[in-house]
Amino acid sequence: MFIFDDVLQKLHKVDLQRGEYLHISELKKRLSSVLKNRVKIDTGQDDTLDRYQHIMSGLYLEEYGKILLIITGSKNTKGVVFIEDLDRFKFCVAQIVQHEYVHHLQHMKRSELIVDDVFMCEKCTDHQRYLATYDEIDAYAYDVALEFRKYGWGRSDVLELYKREFTKNHPVLRRLLKKSYKKVELLNERDRSIDA
Ligand SMILES: [Zn+2]
Repeated sequence: MFIFDDVLQKLHKVDLQRGEYLHISELKKRLSSVLKNRVKIDTGQDDTLDRYQHIMSGLYLEEYGKILLIITGSKNTKGVVFIEDLDRFKFCVAQIVQHEYVHHLQHMKRSELIVDDVFMCEKCTDHQRYLATYDEIDAYAYDVALEFRKYGWGRSDVLELYKREFTKNHPVLRRLLKKSYKKVELLNERDRSIDA
């Protein structure tokens, strides 16, 4: 269920320097050298991104049983990106892989992703419906727990994203939090058993 630490370990072996300018195809090559068994990497360019900026996202490819990591660089610099915070960059890659791995397990469990199964979300926008599916709440709970573990209690970009979309006592938000706390407990138990 939990592969984040393993992925992060692998990422520490990648030849990447803080404050390095590099092309996304080079970034793909270096990351692929350690992640290739589990993750396929795609790259793209976007003209709405600032110079040297990049964004990352993930996807679970059901038909191949593989995780897809998409790195998009700025068209203004022809795909050359600048990784300012290497620590955060590695965290984000491992977090995305973990999130998609949860989808992989969900898929294995029942042979298809039930993307339409929405948890208590009527009159929702498409984006809210996406965030409210059982599968996404479960996968995002890991994102939240990982951020809590790294940045401290209550500090999570993913949680902020849900808070922007749902009112304070909305069942979706409550479900996410409940699940996140459970994952935090799981991570703590894990960390304790490793320390022991
Ligand atoms: Zn997802």
